[in-house]
Amino acid sequence: MEDAVARFKPAVHRFWKRPAPIITRAEGVYLWDQDGKRYIDGAAGSSVVVNIGHGVQSVVDAMAVQAKNVCFAAPHVFSNQPMLDLAQMVAHYAPGTMKNNCRTWFGCTGTDAVDSAVRLARLYYVYTGKPSKHAVIARWRGFHGNNIAVAGIHGHTLRRKFYYPMYVNSPKIPPAYCYRCPFELTYPACNLKCARQLETEIRQQGADNVAAFLAEPVVGAALGAVPAPPGYFEVIRDICDRYDVMLIVDEVMTGWGRIGHWFGIEEWGVTPDIIATAKGMTSGYTPLSATIAREEIWQPVEESGLPFLAGHTLNENPVSCAVAIEVIKYVAEHDLVNKVRRDGEYLMARLQELLEFDIVGDVRGKGMMCGLEFVKDKATKEPFDPALKVAARFQAAALERGLVSFQCAGCVDGVMGDMLLVTPPLVMTRPEIDEMIDIMKDTMKAVQAEVLR
Ligand code: PLP
Repeated sequence: MEDAVARFKPAVHRFWKRPAPIITRAEGVYLWDQDGKRYIDGAAGSSVVVNIGHGVQSVVDAMAVQAKNVCFAAPHVFSNQPMLDLAQMVAHYAPGTMKNNCRTWFGCTGTDAVDSAVRLARLYYVYTGKPSKHAVIARWRGFHGNNIAVAGIHGHTLRRKFYYPMYVNSPKIPPAYCYRCPFELTYPACNLKCARQLETEIRQQGADNVAAFLAEPVVGAALGAVPAPPGYFEVIRDICDRYDVMLIVDEVMTGWGRIGHWFGIEEWGVTPDIIATAKGMTSGYTPLSATIAREEIWQPVEESGLPFLAGHTLNENPVSCAVAIEVIKYVAEHDLVNKVRRDGEYLMARLQELLEFDIVGDVRGKGMMCGLEFVKDKATKEPFDPALKVAARFQAAALERGLVSFQCAGCVDGVMGDMLLVTPPLVMTRPEIDEMIDIMKDTMKAVQAEVLR
């Protein structure tokens, strides 16, 4: 054990004093470590990344060809063909009135896609004669990324800790979270009070000060796969229109087929002004992100004559763009968006069997973006003491049994509340889903025995 820890030392991991298996091979929905132990990937990486599975040859080939031809084309002087082709593809799959009427800025991470989206909203108003519009309203228990600027905007309390004094804090409204409605109402009698809060917040801040509203269609890491209820984004869209506020949707997790649409927001039949996306776009083969906006939003920025100053050195990387093209082709050719709808229902039905356990209070999700919430008492929905780290225990116990899962915490009030994301690669078959559920049940039994002692 001491040796293993020492061997880990030169690199800084997310975990301390805990040697983790070193992954040496991956194929489809499986990974193997250096000792030959096999894991089934119930998280599509970490989390919702490896949409098309590991080791797809066409992606590997495209990556190699592009790396040999041009691995890096200095963005300050060159363009590159994969980026241009990818932008066409993005426009083709973009939702609603963005379809074939948008331009895309390519970055490296989900965080920088959100940061660029916020910059774009701000610049649009600066260049169109409304320079007081700057605030970005977000939601408590929403997550949008991990740099200091974006952490000031998002509402994932546990990930905001320690850097708090360094944030420019954005206004936030309560989440759309029916299992624990912040207003103690019930859908649909609630008349979507959670969405209508946006209007109150805009009025309180002063519409002249508000540039954008930012939200995930299905909240991932901060709520454990909670989709906004039907009608939510329709109300939000209407409020944004009436107050001249941009609607930015964070599709870092929900984009590229994950919930049974090319973009998650299509579930609500609404077109946003700006989309930030990443993760599944390259299925984890290389880093890439995208900030997508309608033509008319980029136009004033272009007409300013000044560059869009949101660049990072590795933006629009040709190898990553070549990868994304192959990944998107794979999703289209294998009809994965429709597969997700069919197999998402199966996944949800199988996950609901876990409600038999006393410690599983809720199972939720959309498509293949599912999750569950642990509770100490199902009737009262009382959460576990965070010190028990129930979700983290589950993740560790599942890993021992050969399942990769993704634990999260803080859904109740930012601090309390354990959850698990269940977000396998979109290519996972029904027998593989069964295998995953078997391991989950076995793990749940063991964890329940430990925490309800
Ligand atoms: N937005 C959402 C919804 C996310 O889940 C994440 C990451 O988990 C991000 C943004 C940030 O993406 P990245 O980790 O690639 O910076």
